[in-house]
Formats: sequence, C-alpha cells, structure tokens
Amino acid sequence: MADKKLIAIRVDNNLCVGSGMCVASYPDKFAFQADGHAMYTALALDEAAAREAEELCPVSAISLVYEQEETP
Ligand code: SF4
Repeated sequence: MADKKLIAIRVDNNLCVGSGMCVASYPDKFAFQADGHAMYTALALDEAAAREAEELCPVSAISLVYEQEETP
C-alpha cells in the first residue's frame, strides 16, 4: 500500500489568470507575486487549504505534489 506524503503546493504560472480566488480564500497561504500570478507562500504545507484552493481555482492552476512512499 502506498502512503502519500505532500511535498509541494504549486501554482502553474502559465495557467494562473490572477482571479484571486486562492488569495481571497486563504490570504495567509497564497499571495500575488509582482507579475500578477499567485503563489503558495506559507512555510507549512496546509493540505486541506491547498485542496480547497485547488477546487476553487477556475483554471486548475493549483496542484498538490505528493511523494510516493512504497511500503513493502
Ligand atoms: S485561484 Fe487560480 S487563477 Fe486565481 S489567482 Fe489563484 S492560482 Fe491564479
């Protein structure tokens, strides 16, 4: 059985249209960069918040990256 560990929360700058849904919903987790794209800025990875933001994003720019840990 594989155990998934969250290792990163990414915003694809090529997809992000700057709608601000993630920033408005989680201002302590997401922020706009100078170029108008959002990025995840919190030090700790908040999986629940990231999942919610992933759902809210109109262009599916947010993704959660997991490390696959295989257990023998
Ligand atoms: S919700 Fe999606 S499109 Fe909007 S600012 Fe966040 S990442 Fe960008």
